[in-house]
Amino acid sequence: MKRKFLKYIDSLKKKGIKEPLLEIQRFISEKFSIPLVDVITGDFEFTPEIAKELETFVKKRADGIPYAYILGFTHFWGRKFFVSPDVLIPRPETEVIVDFVLKKFGNGFKGKILDCCTGSGNIAISLALEMPEAVVFASDISIKALNIARKNAENLNANISLINCDKLNCLKAHSIDIILANPPYIGLSEKYSLEREVLNEPHIALFGGDKGYEFLEEFLNKAVLIVKEKGIIVFEIGYNQRKEVESLTREIFKKSDIYFLKDLNGHFRVGVIENA
Ligand code: GLN
Repeated sequence: MKRKFLKYIDSLKKKGIKEPLLEIQRFISEKFSIPLVDVITGDFEFTPEIAKELETFVKKRADGIPYAYILGFTHFWGRKFFVSPDVLIPRPETEVIVDFVLKKFGNGFKGKILDCCTGSGNIAISLALEMPEAVVFASDISIKALNIARKNAENLNANISLINCDKLNCLKAHSIDIILANPPYIGLSEKYSLEREVLNEPHIALFGGDKGYEFLEEFLNKAVLIVKEKGIIVFEIGYNQRKEVESLTREIFKKSDIYFLKDLNGHFRVGVIENA
């Protein structure tokens, strides 16, 4: 079976795809719901339909289209989320936010949660399913992104309310217990060092200003007004932004408890503000 893929492997390698064979095998497995082990051992029927899809896959991958956009979905917190070029592809680092909130507040939490910049809805939907009694809002400036979030919520049977607004502009003062965000945080100056594939994701979801954390600063200045007394704000940052973000956060939340959580690679990835 590997022989069938050989011609593709070479062309994808030349385009900088690191693990072309594994990608091809995973694609066939995920797209056609064939167990990966059967694809690897060649124990499946290589139909004309599979051949056609594979041809398209290889062309798009060679053009730098991300794997998840071609497949149409990815996995987050153990569930399947539809994605399109209108939304950022959920990353495993972002699961640190879900994990933390769940451990801190538990499945029985009954308060209000807001996920700002929801994109595909991955954070909001994961928490709504894990905390069925919480009231979960998901906001985004992009209507196209909210349409994907709606599709995911319907598909996974999650009860969330979608809000179309920029940052936290349309929310009532001191109304939310838990404010979450994976905001755009890449600096514009880093644009040319990013992989070609990443640049095919929505720039509005990637870039947070010249330095990267300008969006976050604006967001936190609004969050301080929206969060309830004794509420909490949890947000993702770039792997090398802790120092700068910590000092701007302390400026805004003078009396709060502020700390950072590491991702699986050991980078400080998530900021937590416990509002005093
Ligand atoms: N909430 C989404 C995610 O974590 C999208 C984030 C964004 O668009 N910046 O993947």
